[in-house]
Amino acid sequence: MENLSIAIQKSGRLSEQSLDLLKESGISLANGNRKLLSAARNFPLEAVFLRDDDIPQYVFDGVTDVGIVGENVIMEKGFDLQITERLGFARCRLSIALPKSEEYKGIGDLDGKRIATSYPEILGTFLHENHLDCEIHEISGSVEIAPGIGLADAIFDIVSTGSTLISNGLKETEVVMQSEAVLVARKELSEGAREILEKLIFRIRAVQKSKNNKYILLNAPNDKLDDIAAVIPGMKSPTVMPLAEEGWSSVHSVLNENDFWDVIDKLREFGAQGILVIPIEKMIT
Ligand code: ATP
Ligand code: ZN
Repeated sequence: MENLSIAIQKSGRLSEQSLDLLKESGISLANGNRKLLSAARNFPLEAVFLRDDDIPQYVFDGVTDVGIVGENVIMEKGFDLQITERLGFARCRLSIALPKSEEYKGIGDLDGKRIATSYPEILGTFLHENHLDCEIHEISGSVEIAPGIGLADAIFDIVSTGSTLISNGLKETEVVMQSEAVLVARKELSEGAREILEKLIFRIRAVQKSKNNKYILLNAPNDKLDDIAAVIPGMKSPTVMPLAEEGWSSVHSVLNENDFWDVIDKLREFGAQGILVIPIEKMIT
């Protein structure tokens, strides 16, 4: 039977969560110790462990069929790949930052500056689109120290919390792109590989959905059941079962994480008691 090969970062910010995602999708890799190659025991998949910068090229060239990598790296490398699923981890943004003492009134203030970055392509496109003429200094690693040592006037780099910028005396002035880990595929995949990919995506979606939802159980007075059902409609409609105590029912449903506290407040208003909220492991709609 055919296999789907997937490129995963060997060691770095994407590695752990990429492997967790496969694991939660019920795919266990034969050796956890990240040799170059590792075959799954219970799914037609083979993982190849690489540096994240190499993943777009390897997928594009067909060395592997798919890969998990940051959108920023996809954009920078510029290969024509298909983003098949956004994975919601390794969220960050790529921003331009200036020394905090520098006055900044708007994007025009960047004109003529020397900007240090590991992402010359993304930066170049941004500068071009904004009709800015800057000098791009490509450096790999520790970009944030460049202004301090006089190597550049500004930087363009990954920001997540902003604490690295602050500790280097910099301030974020323009957000150029948002990024998260994505599952990318080569555009031309064999039919067999495409079928396995569909199965993998189906599993990933079930895992993602379950993370955004909770199972909720509560006791409700019967005269408030309609109000309560309207607040927690669930996947189809809530399950309602009579309690042994007259006039009360047990209500089971599914609740979106984002609505959580609003919904809980309403449920309490309607007299719900004994509310239990339980994580869901997989969710298929
Ligand atoms: P490699 O050794 O594989 O080349 P690397 O050092 O280039 O690794 P990492 O630092 O592991 O890369 O980052 C991998 C990806 O994680 C980045 O391309 C980006 O998408 C994301 N990322 C980087 N820094 C952060 C951060 N501080 N917060 C969230 N996501 C981040
Ligand atoms: Zn890298």
